[in-house]
Amino acid sequence: MFPGSSPSNSAGSSSEPSSSKLPQDPSNLSAFEKWRRKAMLVTGLGVTDEERMQDLQESRLHWCEKDKQYLMHSSPSVVFMLKQLKLAGCDVPSQNIVCAPCDLTRSGGFEHKRGAVVLCAGNFFNTKHMENTFVHELVHMFDQCRFKVDWTNLRHHACSEIRANNLSGDCRYARELRRGFFTFSKQHQACVRRRAVESVMNNPGCPNEAAAERAVNEVWDSCFNDTRPFDEVSSPSSSWPSDAFLMRIIVRFISGAPEQIVMSGAHWS
Ligand SMILES: [Zn+2]
Repeated sequence: MFPGSSPSNSAGSSSEPSSSKLPQDPSNLSAFEKWRRKAMLVTGLGVTDEERMQDLQESRLHWCEKDKQYLMHSSPSVVFMLKQLKLAGCDVPSQNIVCAPCDLTRSGGFEHKRGAVVLCAGNFFNTKHMENTFVHELVHMFDQCRFKVDWTNLRHHACSEIRANNLSGDCRYARELRRGFFTFSKQHQACVRRRAVESVMNNPGCPNEAAAERAVNEVWDSCFNDTRPFDEVSSPSSSWPSDAFLMRIIVRFISGAPEQIVMSGAHWS
């Protein structure tokens, strides 16, 4: 669930006059004035903290919007999910993917009442992190579209979180290492489970952690194995071979055990 904060549509009208006469409308400025304005904002000389903060916010929203457009057209996973949503009768226009400022604990959210995905501007480590978040929220959207999820039902919520964590790349090994989790075996499943419990705990209808764990456990088997609309976890990926694929190769190399690897419908042995 996500608080419905929308991006501020600020156009630079600060109420307090700046002592340095910072130009307030950047759209009509000469190149020199634009440069001077930017220099003042970067150095902090002659501008208020409010003005610097506003400039930073605008810049984060600008880059988030650019990355969003790039991912919507160039990320195989995002393009795939948008296509599947369209096929399921839930076309997602660009304006339903919203870049917005969020608190630092979040990277994205799904507004199920408005049918909108929120991407938290400035809260991504890199484009890959943003892509994973994007796919995670689109899985929630897909579930809402296809399965009529009751978000007040903890088991429904748990199921969608398990699927979103499992299918989005949120729990790839490199990302888990960055979070400080080093357990080798069953890493992926542990990550999916932990993150699902954390999300269900944030459901207003969830009384405590035990209830969240119970909901996740009750639906685990069916939801973890339900990879629709993907054929298999981590396909189709732009970063082939994926982290999961590489880890399976390493495990196979260490253990010497034969394993059939299936990706994107192709069989690798
Ligand atoms: Zn989620």
